[in-house]
Amino acid sequence: MKREQGSLFVISGPSGVGKGTLRKKLFEQMPNLRYSVSVTTREPREEEQEGHDYFFVDEETFQEYIKLNKFAEWAKVHGDYKGTLLSTIEKTLAGGFDLLLEIDVRGALQIKEKYPEGIFIFIAPPSWEKLEDRLRGRKTEGEDELKKRLDDAHFEMEHIRFYDYLIINNQIERAVEELKAIITSERCRIKDKKKC
Ligand code: 5GP
Repeated sequence: MKREQGSLFVISGPSGVGKGTLRKKLFEQMPNLRYSVSVTTREPREEEQEGHDYFFVDEETFQEYIKLNKFAEWAKVHGDYKGTLLSTIEKTLAGGFDLLLEIDVRGALQIKEKYPEGIFIFIAPPSWEKLEDRLRGRKTEGEDELKKRLDDAHFEMEHIRFYDYLIINNQIERAVEELKAIITSERCRIKDKKKC
């Protein structure tokens, strides 16, 4: 027996909660999972690679993609446009592969409208103090940007109720285990009982 359609997993959580590390560890341990590479107008960071971390485009191209309905969702996140390509979702799921989207809350709400069968997972920090410490510790944002990310974090945390699962990232290895457990059990769930 083979699964016909892959599952769609959506992860959100405030900046600094450790989503990047969590995702990296998850893909090391679940290599058959696919990751949705987003399109963004943000400048690439030094270590980032085109097509691997993001597809980097200018604002004009992004607006063109919006007009052409290329996005399953898009949002302005911390001042930059970011969007998920509809083609990535459709092709990956139709190919029977599971797909992971790591997007902000506003994007996740749009995906929920289009793909209500998706599995929505929220990653929360153990406390506000820890979140602020982590954001300050990584030294990638100035004071203004840091304040903006903390404000955005409040907005994100107010939307936990729209998600199916909550992982509190207190200890990274445990958070990875929890995420793997969610993915494994959702993969095994009988989604369409009429087909059995
Ligand atoms: P960063 O700029 O640090 O790579 O990402 C910042 C935030 O943008 C992350 O919290 C991530 O969830 C969000 N993000 C990344 N790609 C997308 C996307 O395609 N759509 C939306 N709505 N948010 C995204």
